[in-house]
Amino acid sequence: MKLKVLGSVSPYQKGKNNCPGYLVEKNNKKVLLDCGSGITRNLSLPKDLENLTIIISHLHRDHYGDLLTLGYATYVYQKLGLLKEKVKVFLPKDENSDKLYLESMNEHFFEFIHYDEKTVINDNLKISFKKNPHPILTFSIKLEDKDKVLVYSSDTGYKNNALEEFAKDADLFICETTFLQNQKGEEDNHLTTLEAGQISKKAKVKKLMITHTWPEIDKKLYLKETKKVFRNTIVAKEGKTLKIGSR
Ligand SMILES: [Zn+2]
Ligand SMILES: [Zn+2]
Repeated sequence: MKLKVLGSVSPYQKGKNNCPGYLVEKNNKKVLLDCGSGITRNLSLPKDLENLTIIISHLHRDHYGDLLTLGYATYVYQKLGLLKEKVKVFLPKDENSDKLYLESMNEHFFEFIHYDEKTVINDNLKISFKKNPHPILTFSIKLEDKDKVLVYSSDTGYKNNALEEFAKDADLFICETTFLQNQKGEEDNHLTTLEAGQISKKAKVKKLMITHTWPEIDKKLYLKETKKVFRNTIVAKEGKTLKIGSR
């Protein structure tokens, strides 16, 4: 499977940086992990809408901001006869008002499906979910292609996170690093560079890609700090492509 980074910052897009979005491709089928603000500009449309499944990790706006844009694009391309099948959109099984808002959107060519921790998608890739501590229902996502494993943390606090187990031995672990080491306050809703590195070490992942950085801060600072704890770390950048499993 191949990965393309579409977005890597939070809480808002800036310059060439978009909010979280990662496109995974295998055999011409695509999975979009989160649909953050601005990512549509890094997709090739209408091609990328074909055989596409979208998975939203949780209903914070930095993770679904472009779903409205993309939904309207599906509507237009379907009208033009250039999109034949509905795009599946997996949303957490949650009574969050943002979910109701998204599902009431009209003029789209989406099929909404609800998932929870018990859901396993087995189509081309095996996809499973694990709940993590965050203010609203939030899932980390695991994609398996035979023996190759990609895990995406989404947003998570450090205490009681399930990632040391869930990301065990992953070939690629995409992990949020919202904070530099000295930035985290009392609340434990996100990870620091240090915490992301520690989780990766304990989970023995093969490669760590840090993401969900602040749009106003140079990514190199996050990279420098994380590498002190976990050496094989790279930083997510818009347009970056990667083959999972290659060193
Ligand atoms: Zn969040
Ligand atoms: Zn976020």
